[in-house]
Amino acid sequence: MDVHNKTIAQLSQGLKAGDFSSAELTKHYLDRINTSELNAFITVTDELAMEQARAADDKIIKGNAGILTGIPYAHKDIFCTNGVKTSAGSKMLDNFISPYDATVSHKLNQADLVMLGKANMDEFAMGSSNENSYYGDVKNPWNVSKIPGGSSGGSAAAVAGRLAPFATGTDTGGSIRQPASLCGITGLKPTYGRVSRYGMIAYASSLDQAGPMTQTAEDAALVLNVMAGFDEKDSTSANRDVEDYTENLNDSIKGLTIGLPKEFFSEGLDDEVANQVMAAVKEFESMGAIVKEISLPNSAYAIPTYYIVAPCECSSNLSRLDGVRYGYRCDDPKNLDDLYLRSRSEGFGEEVKRRIMIGAYALSAGYYDAYYLKAQKVRHLISDDFKKAFKQVDVIMGPVSPTTAFDLGSVKDPVSMYLADIYTLSANLAGLPGMSIPAGFSQNLPVGLQLIGDYWSESKLLNIAHQFQQQTDWHTQTPGDKS
Ligand code: GLN
Repeated sequence: MDVHNKTIAQLSQGLKAGDFSSAELTKHYLDRINTSELNAFITVTDELAMEQARAADDKIIKGNAGILTGIPYAHKDIFCTNGVKTSAGSKMLDNFISPYDATVSHKLNQADLVMLGKANMDEFAMGSSNENSYYGDVKNPWNVSKIPGGSSGGSAAAVAGRLAPFATGTDTGGSIRQPASLCGITGLKPTYGRVSRYGMIAYASSLDQAGPMTQTAEDAALVLNVMAGFDEKDSTSANRDVEDYTENLNDSIKGLTIGLPKEFFSEGLDDEVANQVMAAVKEFESMGAIVKEISLPNSAYAIPTYYIVAPCECSSNLSRLDGVRYGYRCDDPKNLDDLYLRSRSEGFGEEVKRRIMIGAYALSAGYYDAYYLKAQKVRHLISDDFKKAFKQVDVIMGPVSPTTAFDLGSVKDPVSMYLADIYTLSANLAGLPGMSIPAGFSQNLPVGLQLIGDYWSESKLLNIAHQFQQQTDWHTQTPGDKS
């Protein structure tokens, strides 16, 4: 087996057994990255990676290694990394070298992981196709004329294209699950508050949550063990103990009740995607699970609600980027207004500007009650639907995305692009954990199955996903030479 097809669990064993060193492994991935056409990285940190790998090898030799010591990874370019450019996919931050580490970056460093580079992404995590990056489109490893999904498209393409054994992602409205689904990998968005947002460039603060993007559920558990935890630097981080997420992977799922929301299987869902999702659900039935139809009656309002809440929060978060403090500054400003106006006009891309304008409008006096407040109320109704559903079932399953990966450049109007998020947004609005796991193919493109769990049920979701991956081999398939 090629070393780059190995999972984290396998690589960890190989490192401990001395089959290869972290330096060899790291060099192998760097070579793959540097000859790849996927455009999955904004910055490749070759030297730093080799330094970290050698330090990890030292620890392995001395017998001081942890389970993830020396494992390379791709870090979404939304996480601040001390001394390394952190762009969030934007011209606005093209010159920004972060002076500090995000908590997630710090934790990954503490676990002796090796950062290969910063993964490409939609500008400030706004997008569903990774076509909004200042650094160019990312390509889907299964077919390079297709989108990889967004906004963590670089992360997903890196893992699927075997440029990294795992990647970090962030999910505000689906950005871990949707690219994971379209690239055929495993992605987990934890419960809101499980992973610290400190140093993770904010898009919509009440929705943003970071998580792992991996080949397998077992790997996702290993990485979540490192990423999760209370952080006093993030006031929205939950003061709750971190479980060992690998502990329950092998539990039996006999008797598990699965809810299928009828609203997730209606108009707009591609037939072949529906067939693959239903085949996966059947597989669970054959493993002893019980399937029930449920209803999430307010899910039709997820798109309008999200596309008010997220732009409102982003218009506030991005106001700090004004050409004065840090980031892009226009040439030769005539006065202060000109400095603000041109720095922001030139530094932000089209989609980001659209959202800032929508947000500023919806928050303005006279419109606040009609839009933002209304959206917050509907957000509660959406959460309540889930509360009722989880009284009846253990887990909710459905599609991640209504279609498989579409052609680069084919979706031109923003509203059609927003429709791609229909099945992922509700989990963010409610703050619930969600996963995407590989569940089949339609015309050689991956189809993901979505799992949504109750609050703090990451361990259960990983168990369910792991059990499925013991029975199926969708997650082991690779795009091979197509990349
Ligand atoms: N596609 C959604 C958006 O554009 C979600 C993005 C995300 O989760 N970061 O806002």
